[in-house]
Amino acid sequence: MLSATGLTKRYPTAGQPLTVLEDTALELAANDAVVVTGPSGCGKSTLLYLLGAIEQPTAGTIKLGETNPFSLGEAERARFRNEQVGFVFQDHHLLPQCTVLENVLVPLLASRKATAADETRAKELLGSVGLAERLTHRPAALSGGERQRTAFCRALINEPALLLADEPTGNLDPATAATIGDLLLNLSGETGTMLVCVTHSMELAKRFPRWCELTDRKLVERSTTPGNNHASESTTAAAANSLDAT
Ligand code: ADP
Ligand code: MG
Repeated sequence: MLSATGLTKRYPTAGQPLTVLEDTALELAANDAVVVTGPSGCGKSTLLYLLGAIEQPTAGTIKLGETNPFSLGEAERARFRNEQVGFVFQDHHLLPQCTVLENVLVPLLASRKATAADETRAKELLGSVGLAERLTHRPAALSGGERQRTAFCRALINEPALLLADEPTGNLDPATAATIGDLLLNLSGETGTMLVCVTHSMELAKRFPRWCELTDRKLVERSTTPGNNHASESTTAAAANSLDAT
């Protein structure tokens, strides 16, 4: 599980420090999927960087499982992040010189060489999102939806305990965005991966079982999302099947 308490983040500026988050908290259990909304500049990305142990909080603690990543040394924290956390960003950040398959294997290379079993798993992941026929494409030769699906597989290759998605559908057309939403919401299952997804899209937000608004530097849990119809019931395979055009 994930437990963040007393979370505060201040950025130094030329004048007064800028307080983006102040004494806020978030608890997630295995398989939880929470969406975070709020206006531009309110601190949504900052929150994800803290939860993902990329940025250190000014105050407060974060525990993922039994580990507080900020009690680890720098190298250990980097390894922890690599093994426990997956990120999907608005702009996929794929390596342009690498193929689809190589991009998905990149997170493994930080700790070891990719094995044949790793390659098999990467191919399975890519197959599950409808990219079995795109393994040797480079990102420039993919559609936007295909790039984002590749980024999604890369984020899952290490079976992370926590998946963080920062406006993952921000640059996609509505139909493609909906299928990325399907993939995110169908994550939960055997691996217990927890999901925190930031979005501007009410279409995406209303599909999540949990919704938090970031307002006045704090997360406020809303009991229901606007027009809530809960997570999609379609399977990943069904999502992938509807993706051929994207
Ligand atoms: P959001 O993702 O909700 O749009 P961010 O978390 O990116 O918001 O940023 C929240 C606020 O913190 C913004 O006002 C932004 O300008 C400021 N900010 C973000 N990163 C830094 C930084 N490294 N140094 C100073 N200010 C920052
Ligand atoms: Mg942001």
